[in-house]
Amino acid sequence: MMEGPEVWHTPLAYLKGMGPRRAQVLEAEVGLKTYADLLEYFPRRYLDYAQITPISQASLEHEAVFRGRLGPFQVRAHPGRSQALLISTLYDGRAWMELRWYQGWEWVRQKFQAGQEVLAIGRPQYRKGKLFLAHPELIPLREGVSPNTYLRVYPVYPLTEKLRQVQLDHKRFHMLFEELYRLTQFAREDPIPEFIRAEYDLMPLPEALRALHLPTSVEEAERARYRFKFQEFFLLQVLLVRRKYLLQTQYTAPSFSQVGPLVREFYHKYLPFPLTESQKQVIREIWQDMRQNVPMNRLIQGDVGSGKTIVALFAALIAIGNGYQVALMAPTEVLAEQHARSFRKWLSPLGLGVGLLLGSTPPAQKKRLLAKLATGELPCVIGTHALFQKAVQYHRLGLTIIDEQHKFGVRQRAALWEKAQPYRPHNLLLTATPIPRTLALSLYGDVDVSIIRELPPGRQPVQTLLRTEAQRREVWQLLRTELQKGRQAYIIYPIIEESEKSDLKPVTEGYELICATFPEYKVGMIHGRLSSERKEREMQLFKLGQTQILVGTTVVEVGVDVPNATVLIVEHADRFGLSQLHQLRGRVGRGSYPSYAIFIVPNTPGEVALSRLRALAQYKDGFRIAEIDLKLRGPGDFLGTKQSGLPEFKIADLIEDQPILEKARLAAQQLIAQDPTLQLYPALAQYLLEYADKHRLELFTA
Ligand code: ADP
Ligand code: MG
Repeated sequence: MMEGPEVWHTPLAYLKGMGPRRAQVLEAEVGLKTYADLLEYFPRRYLDYAQITPISQASLEHEAVFRGRLGPFQVRAHPGRSQALLISTLYDGRAWMELRWYQGWEWVRQKFQAGQEVLAIGRPQYRKGKLFLAHPELIPLREGVSPNTYLRVYPVYPLTEKLRQVQLDHKRFHMLFEELYRLTQFAREDPIPEFIRAEYDLMPLPEALRALHLPTSVEEAERARYRFKFQEFFLLQVLLVRRKYLLQTQYTAPSFSQVGPLVREFYHKYLPFPLTESQKQVIREIWQDMRQNVPMNRLIQGDVGSGKTIVALFAALIAIGNGYQVALMAPTEVLAEQHARSFRKWLSPLGLGVGLLLGSTPPAQKKRLLAKLATGELPCVIGTHALFQKAVQYHRLGLTIIDEQHKFGVRQRAALWEKAQPYRPHNLLLTATPIPRTLALSLYGDVDVSIIRELPPGRQPVQTLLRTEAQRREVWQLLRTELQKGRQAYIIYPIIEESEKSDLKPVTEGYELICATFPEYKVGMIHGRLSSERKEREMQLFKLGQTQILVGTTVVEVGVDVPNATVLIVEHADRFGLSQLHQLRGRVGRGSYPSYAIFIVPNTPGEVALSRLRALAQYKDGFRIAEIDLKLRGPGDFLGTKQSGLPEFKIADLIEDQPILEKARLAAQQLIAQDPTLQLYPALAQYLLEYADKHRLELFTA
């Protein structure tokens, strides 16, 4: 057995049975370089040799192991392809099926002969009256020897055609792992501390690696997989929980030990409607945070219209009541103005002023406002990016509220916080983009998350309609009826570029069409190519009712409140993400009128697109929809970009493995509470460094 951790850095070419050529292909194809890398090449799943499916019971749904004799090989021209097709058959004594290889099959010819007994593994397909396996995995069997003798449980690794060409197949992987085991006993240092392993019933690393790659039973392999899933979540959570710990120990915030007189006065005299249970609960959570002298860092997630603004107001009342100032930042001027209007309405009876600071605020007015902020005369300011500019000085900034927080960069949020020297203010982040809990924990594990689950009572439900191009007349009719009642409408298009190939009507063409179809109404247009002033103006005109129809792209997605708008039409709805459509739907149904969200699809929409849209028509809850969306598109696409700061998970699945994630998070919290610097766990500290480096994650907060 080799000694020392250096062995893990050994290039794979040195492993017996590998050789330089295979090592080269392995690195080029799947990025494995060292012994350590090979250990983390996870099998996709396991097949049990003992579970042999008769060909007569083959199911098109499942991959299975078949056992039989190979028929003669035939090479056939493949119509429309340059490479010929290789065909054989498999006969298990009762029934037969075809085996087909479309390319890269030379190795099959070299290794197998007609009449040979094999295991063939694959998922059967059925076409033109024939049952067949395409590119099956073949395992040769020796006469009279049970397959169990070789290996009962068969790890299935992700293979590519090039790997197969250099005989890097499952059999070879098995040999390589046996060799590596002989050399090292897989004796890597375990990054998971022993007390965590004991508490969460996790296999020690060497044993888990053995069970993963050289399993004696499927059950054992599954236990090993569980451990590695746990480990993957655990490492990320340790990193996030540690970041949170550092934030809380490095900075102090003012502690608001009393809720203060304003909360009570507002609650008893001026509260415009009873709060929902969710709102109350979230306000309590905020209050618990603000009592502490560590900065609150809390994200409020609530569906559009769930009433996040009044929750933010309560946080503001606590801060102001304790003698501190509040800054609320929104991503657009229209939104900032909307918030200013609400806050003024709520705060003026209490004798509190609210400033509005926008890029477009005239200089003289701006100067007066800045003076009042600096002296502390003004307790509350609402604005856009203008709020963190250099000239802005606060007297005692105690709370920052950031609406649609994902629209701001980390730096921009930090620039606002730094205005509160020598303190850190408490921070409240708001978002209407529901993020499933697993994703939230992995993305914002260093932030506390509160969720507003229910909508205020008495909302007019939005009727969701799925319509095809052929039904457009009916759609225009509905729109016309609403416009005649004095209501307004949004019409959304997927993109703005003209592209020759695409059959999408770009938004400008749509605009012209709408103008021509509804000449008696005023139509506005808004898209990402317009200057921000133009966008703001278009939104403003629509809000004031000076335009009745707003044609646009998803720019209108962000939380604008136009209660008079009752119709939302989305063109080519099949091109949008589910969560995005749900957000768009939230633009209507904000007043007391019945509203409609109409999703238009091509006459022959794809089945997948259609089932997604049906889910949308069926569910109203944004979290439910976000979960479905995440499941359908995967985390990368769901978040829209790769920037998100979410590491790639190799074995864990963000959707299926939520219970494991919850446990891993708990374990990380236990660990950091016990030893925040990881002094007692050097193996973990080292692993974490490598992990952060590999996934380009920050170990420390800004
Ligand atoms: P969002 O969470 O999308 O920001 P808002 O805070 O804009 O939602 O609230 C949407 C509308 O619902 C506003 O007009 C607000 O005054 C109203 N509202 C909020 N909470 C309640 C409640 N508990 N009961 C009735 N109406 C409410
Ligand atoms: Mg809002």
